[in-house]
Amino acid sequence: MPNTALPSLAELENASEFQARHLGPWDAEQAHMLSVVGVASRQALIDAIVPESIRRSRPMDLPAPLTEAQALAELKAIAGQNKLMRNFIGQGYHGTLTPGVILRNILENPAWYTAYTPYQAEISQGRMEALVNFQTMVTDLTGMAIANASMLDEATAAAEAMTLAARGGKSKSTRFVVCHDVLPQTLEVIQTRARPLGITVDVVHAAQLAEHLQSHDCFAALLQYPGVNGQVRDLRPLINALHAKGALAIVAADLLALTLLASPGELGADIACGTTQRFGMPMGNGGPHAAYLATKDEFKRSLPGRLVGVSVDSHGNTAYRLALQTREQHIRREKATSNICTAQVLPAVVASMYAVYHGPEGLKRIALRVASYTAILAKGLQQLGRQLIHDTGFDTVQVLAADRDAILAAAEGQGINLRAASADTVGITLDETTTRQDLSALLALFANGQPVPAIDTLAQGLTLRLPEALRRTSDFMAHPVFNTHHSETEMLRYIRALSDKDLALDRTMIPLGSCTMKLNATSEMIPITWPEFAHIHPFAPRHQLKGYELLDQQLCAWLSQATGYAGISLQPNAGSQGEYAGLLVIKAYHDARGEGHRDICLIPESAHGTNPASAQMVGMKVVVVKCDADGNVNLDDLKAKCEQHSANLAAVMITYPSTYGVFETRVTELCKLVHQHGGRVYVDGANMNALVGLAGPGEFGGDVSHLNLHKTFCIPHGGGGPGVGPVCVVEDLVPYLPAHRSAGLGTDVQVGAVSAAPLGNAAVLPISWMYIRMMGADGLKAATEVAILNANYVAARLADHYDIHFSSGKAEVKGGGVAHECILDLRPLKDTSGISAEDVAKRLIDYGFHAPTLSFPVAGTLMVEPTESESQAELDRFCDAMIAIREEIRQVEQGQWPQDDNPLKNAPHTAASLLQGEWARPYSRETAAYPVSSLRLQKYWSPVGRVDNVYGDRNLFCSCVPVGDYA
Ligand SMILES: *Cc1c(COP(=O)(O)O)cnc(C)c1O
Repeated sequence: MPNTALPSLAELENASEFQARHLGPWDAEQAHMLSVVGVASRQALIDAIVPESIRRSRPMDLPAPLTEAQALAELKAIAGQNKLMRNFIGQGYHGTLTPGVILRNILENPAWYTAYTPYQAEISQGRMEALVNFQTMVTDLTGMAIANASMLDEATAAAEAMTLAARGGKSKSTRFVVCHDVLPQTLEVIQTRARPLGITVDVVHAAQLAEHLQSHDCFAALLQYPGVNGQVRDLRPLINALHAKGALAIVAADLLALTLLASPGELGADIACGTTQRFGMPMGNGGPHAAYLATKDEFKRSLPGRLVGVSVDSHGNTAYRLALQTREQHIRREKATSNICTAQVLPAVVASMYAVYHGPEGLKRIALRVASYTAILAKGLQQLGRQLIHDTGFDTVQVLAADRDAILAAAEGQGINLRAASADTVGITLDETTTRQDLSALLALFANGQPVPAIDTLAQGLTLRLPEALRRTSDFMAHPVFNTHHSETEMLRYIRALSDKDLALDRTMIPLGSCTMKLNATSEMIPITWPEFAHIHPFAPRHQLKGYELLDQQLCAWLSQATGYAGISLQPNAGSQGEYAGLLVIKAYHDARGEGHRDICLIPESAHGTNPASAQMVGMKVVVVKCDADGNVNLDDLKAKCEQHSANLAAVMITYPSTYGVFETRVTELCKLVHQHGGRVYVDGANMNALVGLAGPGEFGGDVSHLNLHKTFCIPHGGGGPGVGPVCVVEDLVPYLPAHRSAGLGTDVQVGAVSAAPLGNAAVLPISWMYIRMMGADGLKAATEVAILNANYVAARLADHYDIHFSSGKAEVKGGGVAHECILDLRPLKDTSGISAEDVAKRLIDYGFHAPTLSFPVAGTLMVEPTESESQAELDRFCDAMIAIREEIRQVEQGQWPQDDNPLKNAPHTAASLLQGEWARPYSRETAAYPVSSLRLQKYWSPVGRVDNVYGDRNLFCSCVPVGDYA
């Protein structure tokens, strides 16, 4: 072959190969889809849909794309800049051994990590069973009546416990007491949360607490059990003193310690909270980990966060579903008490499986080993002449050390991190991974030339450092699920059996509007379990964390290119937390200008429920702005409200493109208007998948945004978390971005910490890094364009069958022209057939699909967001199903099937219900199970019939179902 016929080396190297892997439709499919939509090219489509007024002035400045292998190599080099150490820092983060069967089959398994939050109960029974196991594990260990699944981290869980106590308790006081030995990062987050709510936080030494209560009222106090320095105190006198004052007692407790210690419930606590990190989730530089919150029965109706309950299905069988308050912020909006939406489901599943794997006996053995090693360490240190600060301890000793810095330095030299507990003490915390060799190495650090005592000798006649009066005598985790699956074979099959019940992205598209369920590429996932990212303590000396620092810097720089914002903090660990942090930034800005009285937040009625919930959490007053018939913010109403509240206007919170999937053309005008009245513009960035590469909110008038890296930037939803919700701001707001003083980061003007760890859910950041690094600027822009094309293709194919609720009204685009999602209005069909949007959602399960977003942002509608990752074939499979369902509805309309007995009302159909001897339905079993022929090749069977939500809410039950109760 002559040289001229050879492709260039650059073409052969194919550096942008990943683009084609990430995008669903290839070129020929795109061409076909464009013809269906009725436009000549992708560019023409974008020009028709995305308003000129908001378009970027220049392309994103991002490094040229790398192949999967190259990106992994580059990231490996960055990871290598983190120093892997043996960590004995404690302070809420511990080494843990993730059982291999859980690591591979849950944490690294797309059947688990690509699932969505279990709003559609029928296709989520597996993960909800795992979450009920989590709730049962927490209620058993804490001795409380009810627990949720899950909270974002221990610090925010404690802050939510504080506000739960404020509204649930009887005291009218606005004072909250934090005991001196609470984790410092927890105290910091509590201080951040308390301030805008007008709550005074007193930090009081445990020894002075009873006395403090004599002269001060408070509505509740937070106690740590065991304390950060290891002390195991009998909390009963303090709890009694609090109760005598009409105040509630919150106990932040270590679950592993609770296998040996009397539970908070037994000690009289009203609320328990904490982290489950040491149950199998690596430290990951601070996250993601599932935190927990558990309460007495009397507060169960006001428990924030995700709560899975037991209900029944249409056949009377046991079935799980999310309890009502899970949607609290969507239903109660500005009256909501918590904004938590995305939680930590995947880490909660890991923790629950860790408990299933080890069982109560296994957990006790681990705890006893840790406690025994701690006692050995304490004894050895005393033999070496060291003075210990406390005579109790589960996993931690605090050693008096005038030579503190020399010891810390010597330790670091040997690859060991200890905690600088105070100016002249050192803290040492042991965990499941600690070995005898570690104990010898630790003792050697304090030996000063003396011989190091032998571990075997120290182990003779050992007494644990746990007070006899506080030893646990009660059982826990007696349910068979924790006492059955202990062989690896059984464990593997249990995990597989649960995931087989569920639909995740590994089986079908999940066209959830506003949720952006796109590809979570395997190459993006691989780095998260690399030891150099996974086994890093968030409070290790900063100079050991150079890899994470670089990851943070690069990712922020790239996201800044994508959004047009000047400054970004990755600390918030969900979108809701980004909203909260962003509103605090706006508040701090007004405060700094002596305009702290500005407290009005304008929010359009179409907003996501987290928006008003976040606004009330920062003490702002929500004023609702109307939307017009096209789904746009009603600018006249906005103008009137800006004028009415001009002196007190703090912010407006909009979503762009709107939650209706519309690019409002007058958004720049809206921003100007708000600025004229002294307010700042918050742009909810959940819909960034319609903007990246085309427009940046920081350029077209936004002042603050949060992103959802778990939507736009490929972090999987994990069945409801983890997420990352970076807060992004324009130049003049950069000084106020959240600090993290417990980690030695930040200045006085900054907003305080909003997460327990300085980089929030740090360990999942490599996912977004990989995505951007492999896509490059052109690839990311192409992703946005294809996302818009896919949505318009769906709208075009369905336009003759369903009402497309809002569109830009472009006559040249079939379907009217939508952004990256489209809303199908089913309300007219309800009148003609009695069929509801929910019936269609459930019937889609019979067709093998996860339903689109149901009844948000408009009741009675389905919102479809296909994302760029779905191929034409999959979009067609979905459209064919929707069209077939429309024909089924027609049969009801025409009276062939009764309104109350048809394949839609009875969906989803279980195999068992179709195999019953008698079949008395007006349609055939084939119609029920195989309405389209492709289902005969591949069929998902719903494990349960339609779940009864009302029954579940009336009979709130949130633990493992007692054996024998299974129907
Ligand atoms: C998903 C979403 C949020 C909340 O994000 P979380 O990460 O779930 O807290 C906020 N606003 C909109 C429009 C969203 O779609």
